[in-house]
Amino acid sequence: MEYRCRVCGLHYASKKLAEECLSWCSSHSSCNLAVSRQSVEAVRMRKAR
Ligand SMILES: [Zn+2]
Repeated sequence: MEYRCRVCGLHYASKKLAEECLSWCSSHSSCNLAVSRQSVEAVRMRKAR
């Protein structure tokens, strides 16, 4: 089960992270790297190397 931030569209393995991302994304117009680097997409990219 993946949780999606509906603002930026990134996916997270935990609901807590997705909520963190969502609250950041809805109050800032930029991405929080500390959160987004934990997204499923970012982890997948790191594993691909
Ligand atoms: Zn987000």
